[in-house]
Amino acid sequence: MPNLVAIVGRPNVGKSTLFNRFTQSRRAIISEESGTTRDRQYGHCEWNGREFSIVDTGGWVVNSEDIFEEEINRQVYIAIEEADVILFVVDVENGITDLDEHVAKILRQAKKDVILVANKVDNFTLQYQAAEFYGLGLGDPYILSAVTGLGSGELLDKVVSLLPPAEEENTENLPRFAVVGRPNAGKSSIINSFIGENRHIVTDIAGTTRDSIYVRYNKFGYDFYLVDTAGIRKKAKVNEDIEYYSVMRAIRAIENSDVCILMVDATRGIESQDLNIFSLVQKNKKGLVVCVNKWDLVESKTSKDIKRYETAIRERLAPFNDFPIIFTSALTKQRIYKVIEAALMVYENKKRRVSTSQLNEFFLPIIENYPPPALKGKYVKIKYVSQLPNTQVPTFVFFANLPQYIKPPYLRFLENKLRENWNFTGVPLLLFPRQK
Ligand code: GDP
Ligand code: GDP
Repeated sequence: MPNLVAIVGRPNVGKSTLFNRFTQSRRAIISEESGTTRDRQYGHCEWNGREFSIVDTGGWVVNSEDIFEEEINRQVYIAIEEADVILFVVDVENGITDLDEHVAKILRQAKKDVILVANKVDNFTLQYQAAEFYGLGLGDPYILSAVTGLGSGELLDKVVSLLPPAEEENTENLPRFAVVGRPNAGKSSIINSFIGENRHIVTDIAGTTRDSIYVRYNKFGYDFYLVDTAGIRKKAKVNEDIEYYSVMRAIRAIENSDVCILMVDATRGIESQDLNIFSLVQKNKKGLVVCVNKWDLVESKTSKDIKRYETAIRERLAPFNDFPIIFTSALTKQRIYKVIEAALMVYENKKRRVSTSQLNEFFLPIIENYPPPALKGKYVKIKYVSQLPNTQVPTFVFFANLPQYIKPPYLRFLENKLRENWNFTGVPLLLFPRQK
């Protein structure tokens, strides 16, 4: 289960530079889909075999040049609530400022692991200047130059040493669904209509991370876990309508799930915040069901209207458009069980394994009829197709004489064929050309 590390600190101390340094190493190995603005603030990091997610909470502060105390309070409280480890970044160029003192005070009272990071120590003479930060009452600072990388290895060692021990692989093979979406979309309402009055079906599983709880739903022939979100647990201290707060919550829920149920408010359509959450789902390669909620409030519900809604949503979320869309009312419980059925189907699709012989029987004639376009006078021959075992999402390898000549448009053609012939609805697919 991934752990979450949050970066906090006042503006301009180098938080986003540090974030980039920590996330880039992995990006070089695993090519991530090109993303959204969120990419700057949320990413994965791997160090000595431990993986964690990292969030630059400062990236969410608008107008960060003239930050208000209140703004930074929120940032820090969110980090305290959601993260396993907090990196508190200060700047040797400026020394201790009032805002640093203020943040330190909050962090000293928190029962969370905090690492004090003195940044901009670009050379060793500056490290003596870093000593003054001891005065913040958070121990000796780790010195860092986010720009040159000096000190980053020691810092990563420390981060990893503070992460909770790696959990045993989940032995329970039940599907895990997360309900995500922006505030007021109806997440709590739909979760409560599933489990609400039936608290006895609610069981917390031991052995999950401190901050994530699963609720088992075992009724009417269904058996799955709902990843707990803000809805079921205590409402947070901080204002629910802050975007970065809901994104932080979403990150946890998404990472801990197999399939995400993205709640959209029918009366508002898809907004940028929905797209941000959608891109988190994509980035984490989770299954997807889109739920257009508050359908009871929509006046005109002809099949034409439904089609129009569907098309609009698929266009907004393009190029990925092969996912179920369910029109629901959490209030009247209209079609809420359809949502579960769709999520279970997506879960099955995500586990789908196609045998090599079936793949080749299907693909080789297609490829023969529509071969990849020749490049620089060279013919590309795909000889063999196979699905990799034990991957998080279905992953297909196309063995070819000149794999580097197989371009994205052709891979999209192959993906569409896969989706036409097998049910992969709601599931991201990976296709790789590879040397025979
Ligand atoms: P944030 O507002 O805390 O996210 O800070 P940024 O990462 O945007 O950095 C603010 C400025 O400090 C930028 O001009 C960075 O290039 C610079 N900076 C960040 N880290 C270092 C460092 O290690 N050394 C030096 N000299 N400058 C740095
Ligand atoms: P969350 O912030 O996503 O958890 O949203 P809530 O579940 O708290 O719902 C926000 C508001 O929308 C509440 O006032 C709900 O009663 C209302 N609401 C949620 N689902 C529906 C629905 O399907 N129809 C209508 N009319 N109202 C809904």
